[in-house]
Amino acid sequence: MITYNCPKCGKTFTTQTEVQSVKCPYCGEVFQTVYGQQPAQGAPNQAPYGAQRPIGVFDEGPSGKSRGVAALLVFFLGGFGAHYFYLGKAAGGIICFLLTMITCGLWGIILLIQTFLFFTMSQEDFERKFVYSTSTFPLF
Ligand SMILES: [Zn+2]
Repeated sequence: MITYNCPKCGKTFTTQTEVQSVKCPYCGEVFQTVYGQQPAQGAPNQAPYGAQRPIGVFDEGPSGKSRGVAALLVFFLGGFGAHYFYLGKAAGGIICFLLTMITCGLWGIILLIQTFLFFTMSQEDFERKFVYSTSTFPLF
């Protein structure tokens, strides 16, 4: 389906195939088409390069939080609850720190799983579960 704009009356109409000249069904004007120079009106606009690039691990999402930063924080400072403080969940950070103390560091196994999760989950899931969630202490 090719779309044309009539140069005389300005109306838009379509033909099934590429043609050299067309007759406007509205006003009867016959005009030459230069196929390729008058792109079809209905053609989808090309997205600018890079517009469809998915959000990278270290890119900030809509919430302003990066799961890459969260992953590094939980990996290096997770025992202190650093990632929960980063995610705006201070109470969760304190719980996390207490759990590290109470379990003598065994809790770190969970933190390793969280590190892995942050790196692998989608930005959308990350923000839903860890940023926008009303939970004070979201685990997974
Ligand atoms: Zn016309």
